Amino acid sequence: MTAFASSADLDDKEQTLEVLADGVYALTAEGDPNVGAIEGEDFLVCFEAMATPVAARAWLGRLRQLTGKPIRYLVLSHYHAVRVLGASAFGADVIVAHDNTRALIAERGQQDWESELGRMPRLFKDPASIPGLTWPTLTFSDRLTIQLGGDRGELVLAYCGRGHTEGDIVAWLPRHRILFAGDLVEAQAALYTGDAFHREWVNGTLSAVAALGAEALIGGRGAVARGGDAVEAAIGQTRDFLATMLAQVGTVHEAGGTLKEAFSAAHQALAPRYGRWPIFEHCMPFNVSRLWDELSGIERPVIWTAERDRAVWAALC
Ligand SMILES: [Zn+2]
Repeated sequence: MTAFASSADLDDKEQTLEVLADGVYALTAEGDPNVGAIEGEDFLVCFEAMATPVAARAWLGRLRQLTGKPIRYLVLSHYHAVRVLGASAFGADVIVAHDNTRALIAERGQQDWESELGRMPRLFKDPASIPGLTWPTLTFSDRLTIQLGGDRGELVLAYCGRGHTEGDIVAWLPRHRILFAGDLVEAQAALYTGDAFHREWVNGTLSAVAALGAEALIGGRGAVARGGDAVEAAIGQTRDFLATMLAQVGTVHEAGGTLKEAFSAAHQALAPRYGRWPIFEHCMPFNVSRLWDELSGIERPVIWTAERDRAVWAALC
């Protein structure tokens, strides 16, 4: 059996801060979760909160070299622990997320915290600094627009449908055509689909993301995609990853095969193109397990717990 999930991935990643337009920032980290910030005229919007307040403070230290504006909004793309549990470090007036994200935090936030801590211990810098679950203070169902003030235009937070989870939102700057896509799109990093709705994600949801026509895209992990071609490539890779999983797992499922056979088929089909990308081996057992459930008619993802994580890993790896 190989080392569980990312538990053996202990080397720090290089973080790169990029200025994508006047007052638009992205911090990428070689496949670790990306974060960003957008300047309003007299306030800041931060996108994603990292796994712990201590991890978030390192990012905020870099951001503070560029702007001293107060953080009015912290936008959370979805409920996953490595994206939300650093929220207290931001001191934001408002924490924004989708209605479904608030419901998921209430339903399974605690279990997800314990699961992700076990899967990706390196991201949880000083886990004792986490004061508790992060609760959004403003949620919406379809769209929420933040006026940035001055001549900065607006920031549109939009729900594109169920995908990576049932509550993913994207942050869209129409004036610059810059999109913060959260985990709905990955740029040369493997997809995590353990909480996903694969068929909706690969069809309507990704199409809605693509229809925005972004010229720059910050995915959940991986480098910034700059230019229409690179954006299209990132969305295309995400679509291909999902379509390949659906084809492989679907074939085994229909033929009355086993979960283990489905895992082998999906792994074999994806590995040549995606096997070297960050978190590929980590994600695959959880991905195939959820897709198997989805194809078996289990509507919503079964809650991942630290115990269930280990059981699935032992069964498949
Ligand atoms: Zn996620």
